[in-house]
Amino acid sequence: MESGTVETRTESGEATNGARAVSAEKLDVRNPATGETIATIPIASPTAVAEIVTRVRANQPEWEAIGIEGRYHWLGKLRDWLLDNRDRVLDTMQLETGKVRADASNEPAYLADLINFYGTKAAEFIGEQSVRAHSALLASKKLRIQYRPHPVVGIISPWNFPLILALGDAIPALQAGAAVVIKPSEFTPLGLAEVVKAWKEEIGAPDVLDCVQGIGETGSALIDAVDFVQFTGSDRTGRKVMARAAETLTPVSLELGGKDPMIVLSDADLDRAANAAAWGGMMNSGQICMSVERIYVEEPAYDHFVAKLTAEVGKLRQGPDDARDPKDVGAMTSPNQTAIVEDHVEDAIANGARALAGGKRVEGPGDYFEPTVLVDVDHSMKVMREETFGPVVGVMKVRDSEEALRLANDSRYGLSGSVFGERERAERVARRVECGAVNVNDVLVNYLASDVPMGGWKESGIGFRHGEPGIKKYCRSESLVITRFAGKREPTWYPYTRSRRKLVDRLMPLFNARDWRRRLGLHR
Ligand code: NAD
Repeated sequence: MESGTVETRTESGEATNGARAVSAEKLDVRNPATGETIATIPIASPTAVAEIVTRVRANQPEWEAIGIEGRYHWLGKLRDWLLDNRDRVLDTMQLETGKVRADASNEPAYLADLINFYGTKAAEFIGEQSVRAHSALLASKKLRIQYRPHPVVGIISPWNFPLILALGDAIPALQAGAAVVIKPSEFTPLGLAEVVKAWKEEIGAPDVLDCVQGIGETGSALIDAVDFVQFTGSDRTGRKVMARAAETLTPVSLELGGKDPMIVLSDADLDRAANAAAWGGMMNSGQICMSVERIYVEEPAYDHFVAKLTAEVGKLRQGPDDARDPKDVGAMTSPNQTAIVEDHVEDAIANGARALAGGKRVEGPGDYFEPTVLVDVDHSMKVMREETFGPVVGVMKVRDSEEALRLANDSRYGLSGSVFGERERAERVARRVECGAVNVNDVLVNYLASDVPMGGWKESGIGFRHGEPGIKKYCRSESLVITRFAGKREPTWYPYTRSRRKLVDRLMPLFNARDWRRRLGLHR
């Protein structure tokens, strides 16, 4: 959506991406598990967005000044609030996403862990650094690097994990000393708004965290107002975000789509591999950027693996989830996404694929797509090339690990992947998968290893979250070169006399040559 217009709405008020803009000022939020409207929220105007950014910008210097420990103090209070109010937040999030409880409950747990991780690691990652000069010519200088935050970080987030993908990026930014304004997805604005309100009103923390509600143009207005943009969403929108940010030379970090491959070697534990594929492909209804979407199985293991995977997926319970009647697979959160999933599956079946489980949209109230296992697929099909982002996996038989790697790497995406097999062999194969993170004998788990960076290669993104880069990206490095002792002038300064130039000419090889003849000027 371009700035200044609300183009995605049709005459009936239905936005083309499935969210419902009731008017230019309001959005309806739906429960995808039932189709019911659960809230109507105001859309922030570009002026309102700019005003909010100005307000938190004014409070940022004080936030930066309280230091790493002072900021961890407040983030620690947020952690405690999330743990104490877990059920309240999960109730809201479940309503707006249609997730099953088990999938929703990962969010507060992840955030609490991330607060502790960055709170205890920030000093190591962004504390002032003392550097030893590489050359004796700089012996009189003290070298330091200090990391100063971008004053206001704007976070634009998607609908599949409304808290993790908004607060999960806000936590390191806040810990770094930035103020943060978040534009959550128009499909899932409620859970995040509840947490932000609690930060201000219940926790009473400094006024350096806020959110703005709205659609694409709200995101554009945020890009115009902030100093750094953290975007998570589709690669299509990512390109627009980068172009918009280029107008103000605002740095961006982009976490985009994926088409994650899983390689199953013949010596894998096939029970574990099949169970992992079922969970990694269907968890959160497959609406995870790192979902298992493509599976390549070495020939000797193929039949057993497919039988086990089909049996596991066939057992999954789907539908509206509640404590008395728990389910495994929830609803599709965005109606637009269900249409994409349906299109990919229909395209595959029309071109010769077979669905061994699932294969179609579920009729009735709510928005569901059956957990689906496709075989006889190939790389001419959308389901093996484009991001499906639904509960669908395509499985291919391959001759050997070389063919598996060739196919796994035959993608414009490179977010993450997994390899199952005897540990050493699987590790060797994993090192050759072209993506930002690979799990060996597990799936999705790299997201919990906040110690190591997570980010996309190729069209899956620019930049990283987690680890040292995940907090350093919110900072600008400021190098301090401090003169400890000195005379009235340096040999390189004015005046350029013959004797000073001669001295510099002698010193130059003395410090730069790596053999004594040159150092002493004897090589000619
Ligand atoms: P999306 O790109 O449609 O929207 C993401 C956000 O961008 C929303 O808040 C939306 O309102 C906003 N937006 C839309 N147009 C904009 C514009 N012109 N300027 C600024 N903001 C704009 O993505 P989605 O459908 O919400 O999420 C699904 C996508 O997110 C999938 O492609 C998925 O792979 C990706 N994703 C990536 C990661 C990751 O870490 N790499 C994680 C989760 C989801």
